[in-house]
Amino acid sequence: MFEKQIEIPSPEEIVSERPVPEALAAVKSERDRLAKEVITGESDRLLVIVGPCSAHEPEPVLEYVRRLGKLGERVKDRLVLVPRVYTAKPRTRGVGYMGMFSQPDPDHEEDTLRGIRKIREMLLHCIEESGLSAADEMLYPENYAYVEDLITYVAVGARSCEDQSHRLVSSGIDLPVGFKNPMSGSIPVLINSIFAAQSPQVFKYHNYQVRTTGNPYAHAVLRGRVDNYGNDIPNYHYETVMQVLEGYARAGEALSNPALIIDANHSNSGKRFRQQIRIVGEVLENRLRDKDFRRIVKGFMIESFLEEGCQEHDVVFGKSITDPCLGWADTEALILDIAEKA
Ligand code: PEP
Ligand code: MN
Repeated sequence: MFEKQIEIPSPEEIVSERPVPEALAAVKSERDRLAKEVITGESDRLLVIVGPCSAHEPEPVLEYVRRLGKLGERVKDRLVLVPRVYTAKPRTRGVGYMGMFSQPDPDHEEDTLRGIRKIREMLLHCIEESGLSAADEMLYPENYAYVEDLITYVAVGARSCEDQSHRLVSSGIDLPVGFKNPMSGSIPVLINSIFAAQSPQVFKYHNYQVRTTGNPYAHAVLRGRVDNYGNDIPNYHYETVMQVLEGYARAGEALSNPALIIDANHSNSGKRFRQQIRIVGEVLENRLRDKDFRRIVKGFMIESFLEEGCQEHDVVFGKSITDPCLGWADTEALILDIAEKA
């Protein structure tokens, strides 16, 4: 049974309440261009998607992105920084904090309408105050239309990678869309997702049957896998990266822009967040050793916030309430190190 709780206006109505000012739209479209050029190989910079596991309050997120914006200026010749501003959280067991999109206050009940308005305001300020437009996970494909004018990178999570509607909607997105490997770690499933997202598709989206062009910027993200006994098994090593390269090669002309981002946290670090530094270091080392590895690995995803670790409730300013993160000082040092070795 369903109880209708709040009527939610269409994306067009919500966007028209507060359209993105032209100057900020121009910043976003320049950031989009820079991110796409990394995926296509037109640029040899690395893409670094970095920020908290979840954006639970705007103030610490904006403080974080302001710092990242300044750092981004220092490394702009080598890196394209994209802040993680994740507003919808998948939960392994379907319970817990679901993100600002539906829960504008983490300790209070759901209010999706207030949530949508709050995330749009936060994403807009993010561009205004840092010069950077954000990455978010497209957990609910329908909801992408509420933020598409404000973000530069879209992630499809490990639990959604095999899902038809995520794949179809991705095929119409004019941005880099990173597909995480599924929880099982299957590389064929990952490659099939990219194939579906790069292909033109026809399906129902909102109130229309739509036809998409296919998204040539859809690519792979390795986040580690979970075995049948619940153990985290890393997959950032040379061997798995070569399997992804092989998957792209087998698809031949059918897939454009072979590209791979390494997610250093999640099942790669086993959520031992400080291991992200070592993992990124190992991947950078492999890029120097092997030209195929270098050609396909185009960046990193790193979980980081103002304060390191995580907390159950929002008590400490700038500390994650979902996955544990690197703190700011370690993040800054890591990003400078990536820029030097990129
Ligand atoms: C995340 O990026 O915070 C996340 C939930 O990722 P995954 O889908 O890889 O678990
Ligand atoms: Mn996370």
